[in-house]
Amino acid sequence: MTRMLIIGPPGSGKGTQAERISERLGVVAISTGDIFRRNVKEQTALGVEAKKFIDAGDFVPDDVTNGMVRDRLLQDDVADGFLLDGYPRTTAQVQALDDILAANNQRLDIVLQLTADDEELVGRLKKRAELDGRTDDTEAVIRHRLELYREQTHAVVAEYDKRGIVARVDGLGGIDDVTDRVMDSLSTVR
Ligand code: AMP
Repeated sequence: MTRMLIIGPPGSGKGTQAERISERLGVVAISTGDIFRRNVKEQTALGVEAKKFIDAGDFVPDDVTNGMVRDRLLQDDVADGFLLDGYPRTTAQVQALDDILAANNQRLDIVLQLTADDEELVGRLKKRAELDGRTDDTEAVIRHRLELYREQTHAVVAEYDKRGIVARVDGLGGIDDVTDRVMDSLSTVR
């Protein structure tokens, strides 16, 4: 049973790695960015609310995001574990996640942090923008998202560092190499 987070800057390949890790560990990967994008596409109330923040590269407000994650973590498929991708991103979200888990007598096992250099990330994200047509992958928005990541996520990782559950992995290089590094690092923490 594994309850874990994957944290990494935009463009660090965390979505790809999350899918692979979830397959190998047999736990469900939940990406808050994907849930938001699906809601935007389907024009749900949540999507309409979130779209302006997403398009500007800002965080969707904590109350909206926390409520969405709470609902998702109540579903049966995550009773035995999950891999959260893209959440928590603020210290208020860390607290909210602690509360959600504590209500079920659960706690986090591992926080996996993927690291990468900013210039490499901007290059990767610009390439992805051309391929996927994401509205939040223009250079200005990309730089803003990277800044937000540095500003806010630092405190999130620091909190989990205090608990001694962070595994750091270099996110640069081939996809398979990164997955191997991740699996090695998980085996040392678990
Ligand atoms: P991502 O695909 O994880 O890069 O997320 C894309 C966008 O969704 C972010 O730039 C935010 O606007 C929004 N988002 C995703 N996760 C969160 C979160 N935990 N808190 C607030 N906003 C989020």
